[in-house]
Amino acid sequence: MRITEIFHSIQGDFSLIGLPMLFIRTNRCNLRCRWCDSTYTFSGGQEMTLDEIMENIYASSEDWVCLTGGEPLLQRESVELIERAGRVGRKVLLETGGSLSLKDYVNMNNLTIDMDVKTPSSGEQASLYRNNLDYLRRGDYIKFVVADHIDLAYALDFIRNGKMKFGVVLQPAWGTDMKWLAEKVLESHLNVRVLPQLHKLIWGEIPGV
Ligand code: SF4
Repeated sequence: MRITEIFHSIQGDFSLIGLPMLFIRTNRCNLRCRWCDSTYTFSGGQEMTLDEIMENIYASSEDWVCLTGGEPLLQRESVELIERAGRVGRKVLLETGGSLSLKDYVNMNNLTIDMDVKTPSSGEQASLYRNNLDYLRRGDYIKFVVADHIDLAYALDFIRNGKMKFGVVLQPAWGTDMKWLAEKVLESHLNVRVLPQLHKLIWGEIPGV
């Protein structure tokens, strides 16, 4: 499995916001979002066996592991890693860009899925693998990163036209006014959450936190 970094931080998203987690950031991504903050995952990294990664999990004090990227679904061993983490009592938050199938992941009950629906400002709007919307379960959620009013209109249309049996988060892109986004969501009368990227509020836009 190709890994960019393993580090301890706190989760910035949705119902798990504020929880300490062991972050496993996989290497490589099949997308190229314009505002990507993880471009350092596009190359480099190091090969690690599942046993080596599990040693980091055994040694961690956190109940949760966040498997993020890059794009974790590009790594063949991601399913097995999540299963093995579950066998030692760890819950896993899987963060995915939404372009690859989640079919092999939805029967694992130690797993919560955070799936991006890419907005127009990303330049990857067409990348969504739409069957994933049928695979997501009640505790999972989709996330829209909103940079401007075009992204907002796209997200609100998407939400209104879908049957959302899972959670929905709107997150302001870094540098976008969260108050503006919150007020627009209130005007929409939709029951969705507006959340910041908490780790960036705390530490700024640096890798490894
Ligand atoms: S999916 Fe994530 S890691 Fe990949 S390019 Fe987009 S923001 Fe970057």
